[in-house]
Amino acid sequence: MDDKVYEQLLDQAYSELPEVLYKKERFVVPEVSGRLVKTRTQIRNFGEIAKHLARDQEHMHKFMLKFVGVRGDLNANRGEVILHSRFQPAILNKGIQKYYTEYVECPHCTSPDTELIEEGGIKKCKACGHQEKVTRL
Ligand SMILES: [Zn+2]
Repeated sequence: MDDKVYEQLLDQAYSELPEVLYKKERFVVPEVSGRLVKTRTQIRNFGEIAKHLARDQEHMHKFMLKFVGVRGDLNANRGEVILHSRFQPAILNKGIQKYYTEYVECPHCTSPDTELIEEGGIKKCKACGHQEKVTRL
């Protein structure tokens, strides 16, 4: 069997594995659940997402406003955000994903188990101890 055939077989074997096998241990960033209300966008599970990422709603809210470039209102008690424009969920999910990469995930070991210290200027990993500077919001 030459290398090329072997590689093809290997590829096939991978693509036939059920997806759950890969994703079982992987941390999943939640997707936004929202709706358009006239000229605005309501994110109804903002609090749940923040909780899942173990971050402050206000911190994530600040990031999202910068990301989408419009004003918005956070209702932390209800865990909801209203953005002052209309957005497709894909854009908002991209924002949450970017927030996760910048402010939650450890770049060294990819653990989501991190915390922000030094008034949000340092991201510190609880799993491997890695620390890095992040932009204060
Ligand atoms: Zn780490």
